[in-house]
Amino acid sequence: MGLVRERRKTRQIRVGNVRVGSEAQVCVQSMTNTQTQDVTATVAQILALENAGCEIIRVAVPDMEAALAIRQIKDQINIPLIADIHFDYRLALVSAESGVDGLRINPGNIGEEKKIRAVVDCAKSHNLPIRVGVNAGSLEKEIEKQYGPTPKAMTESALANIRILERLGFQDIKVSLKASDVERTVEAYRMLAPLTDVPFHVGVTEAGGLYAGITKSSIGIGMLLAEGIGDTIRVSLTRDPVEEIRTGFEILRALGIRQRGPELISCPTCGRCKINLFKIAEDVEKALLERNARIKVAIMGCVVNGPGEAKEADIGIAGGDGKGILFKKGKVVRKIDQDCLVDQLLEEIDSMTKDAEDNHGKKS
Ligand code: SF4
Repeated sequence: MGLVRERRKTRQIRVGNVRVGSEAQVCVQSMTNTQTQDVTATVAQILALENAGCEIIRVAVPDMEAALAIRQIKDQINIPLIADIHFDYRLALVSAESGVDGLRINPGNIGEEKKIRAVVDCAKSHNLPIRVGVNAGSLEKEIEKQYGPTPKAMTESALANIRILERLGFQDIKVSLKASDVERTVEAYRMLAPLTDVPFHVGVTEAGGLYAGITKSSIGIGMLLAEGIGDTIRVSLTRDPVEEIRTGFEILRALGIRQRGPELISCPTCGRCKINLFKIAEDVEKALLERNARIKVAIMGCVVNGPGEAKEADIGIAGGDGKGILFKKGKVVRKIDQDCLVDQLLEEIDSMTKDAEDNHGKKS
């Protein structure tokens, strides 16, 4: 039996040109942390995120200036943009007019029926999906009073919001159910999964800094994906959002769901290691981020055990005493002066990639 169960069947929606839902691949998204009205900074961050592989981006729309800035932002980016709106329905209408690709707004928070209807009509006429974003920290008062900030309350809130939209004939819905701890997050998605066919955006919210955030997100998102639950994912870190994208793809890679760019394996080092492997691994990791080849690269601390321990890698280096070696599939290719290890490894990777591309070109 594989690691990941069959994907939960969902309806499919479109966020710009990205399909979301079962049959479409699980996609990785993030949210900017710039001031949205600062178009230059927001565009720069989105382009960096695109470069890291981000497939859908969300921006906060706290006021009219931010809603109006969407037009200029959209003109300079290539991935679908979602406007994140709380309460004020007019911001949703202006964001839609400004060319946004999706709305994150909870209809239950908009207020009067006619305002909800205005947002739904606007979303329909612009072909925009709506994400209902349930957060354990900001549940509707009545629901929280009845159930407390529990998975049951999160599920009830999601169902109530979905009902409002569907009653108005709106189907292009995505839902997220986030809490800041793994247990409630996972329980809530599990509870809602059999009750609706809307696609799920999965993540653990306010997960924390780098270590806590990556750990909680990997476990929470990982458990759900392994159960076949989750159509888009967001790792939430108090960091540069580019780190969120990298982590998101590593989670997908670890589960064997999707792969992006080269995979790096490296040993933890031990008393046999005589080189500064941490620095070498860091330099190679950075350089590999710029490359798209789907190969496995190994960085090992010693020539004695390194090539053997990493024989499943397509290519790798192992450190020695002054000289290291370059190996492919566990077989030594040549000895290299230690100072040139990284450069020669990267050259070799680039030439392997080029050969693979040339061969592909000949075939097609
Ligand atoms: S590859 Fe060598 S240095 Fe690295 S952990 Fe194994 S034995 Fe130690």
